[in-house]
Amino acid sequence: MIYLDYAATTPIFPEVVEAMLPYLKSQFANPSALYKIGVENRKAINLARKKVADLLGCKPQELYFTSGGTESNNWAIKGLASRHQAKTIITTPIEHHSIIHPCEYLKNFGYRIHYLHVDEQGFIDLAELERVLDQDTLLVTLGYVNNEVGTIQDVQAIAEICKRHQCLLHLDATQAVGHIPFNLRDLNVDLMTFSAHKFHGPKGVGCLYIREEVAIDPLMHGGRQEYNHRAGTENVANIIGLAKALELSLDRLPQYQTLSELATLCLQQLLQLPDVRFNGPKLGPKRLATILNFSFKGIDGADLLYQLNQAGIYAANGSACNAERIEPSHVLSAIGVPESYLHGSVRLSFGLGTTREAMIQACEVITQLVHKLRND
Ligand code: PMP
Repeated sequence: MIYLDYAATTPIFPEVVEAMLPYLKSQFANPSALYKIGVENRKAINLARKKVADLLGCKPQELYFTSGGTESNNWAIKGLASRHQAKTIITTPIEHHSIIHPCEYLKNFGYRIHYLHVDEQGFIDLAELERVLDQDTLLVTLGYVNNEVGTIQDVQAIAEICKRHQCLLHLDATQAVGHIPFNLRDLNVDLMTFSAHKFHGPKGVGCLYIREEVAIDPLMHGGRQEYNHRAGTENVANIIGLAKALELSLDRLPQYQTLSELATLCLQQLLQLPDVRFNGPKLGPKRLATILNFSFKGIDGADLLYQLNQAGIYAANGSACNAERIEPSHVLSAIGVPESYLHGSVRLSFGLGTTREAMIQACEVITQLVHKLRND
C-alpha cells in the first residue's frame, strides 16, 4: 500500500498508542472523581495541557480539549455569535465545511457572511479584508493552511489588520499544527483550532485555543469540565495521545526538508504529462509541501482514484469529508480551476512515513493511468 492521504488523516505514532494505553486499561477512572485514580487522571490531563501550551506558546488555561477540528470550529463561530452583538462574519470560500456550514447556519439567525475573494493560488486579498472590517464584524475566521491546495495564508499580516480594527481572529490551524513551526505568542490570534489526528495522534480529539481575554459562550452545556467551558467527561486517553503526538511531530519537523524534496520529485514527474495543472501556490514558503493537488484534463478524478486504489495507492479527490459526493471541490472551483480540468483532480498528501521509492512508484502509476484513461 502507498498511502497518500495524510491530509485526511495520519497514521498514529506507536509511541502515542503506548502513552494512551494505561488510560484505556487500569487508569480508567473519571477525572472528576475524588479518589486516587480519578485525581491521577485529572493530573495527567493537566500535564498534557501544560505540555501542549509550552509547545505552542500559550497559557494552559487558554487551551480547551474538544472532540476535534469540527467541534472547535463550530464552537469558535457559534460561541462568539451567541456572546456578542455584531452580526457579520468574514471568511473565505475555500474553508473546510466545518467553518462554512456553521457560518451558513447562522444566516438563519440574521448573520451576514462575507466571503473574501481568493486568487488562483488561494490567497486572500489583504486590502479587501482591511476594507470590509467594520463595527458590525463579529470575527474573521479562516484556515492557516488550506487542506486541499496547501496555501499558507499570511496570518501575521491578517492578525495585524484584525488587531488594528479590534476584530477577533479565529484560525483553523488543523492542517498547520505539527506541520509548520509557529508560536502562538508571536501570531497574535484570538482563537485557534487544531486536531490530533492530523499530526499522528488519535481521532476524535482536538483543541480550541481561546486567548484569555476573549469572551465566548460554551457550545456544550453540562458539567464543569474544561474550566466550565466545555462540558462532558474528558477523553483522557485521547488527550494524553494528543500531547504526545504534538511533542513528537514538532521534534520531527526538520524532516520536512526531505519531504519537500519528495514534493519536487513528484512535480517533476507529473508535470511532464500534457494538459496537467498543479493547483495552489508553487512550492516554497507559501505552500505546505506535503499537500499537492493536480488536475488532469479529459479524465474523471473518481476513475483515477478507483484505479489507483486497485493498484494499492490511496489518494483523495479533494477533502475526504465529501469524498462520496461527485460535485467538484468547492476549493478548486473557488480558485478558478477551469471546468475542463475540475473533474480530473486528485490530491496527493504525504508525510513522515512516505519514502522516495513510494513517491516515484505512485507517480509512475499515475502517469500510466492518466494515459490509459485518456485512451492515449
Ligand atoms: N479543518 C480542516 C482544515 C481540516 O482539514 C479538517 C479535517 N479534514 C477539519 C477542520 C476537521 O477536523 P476533524 O476531522 O478533527 O473534525
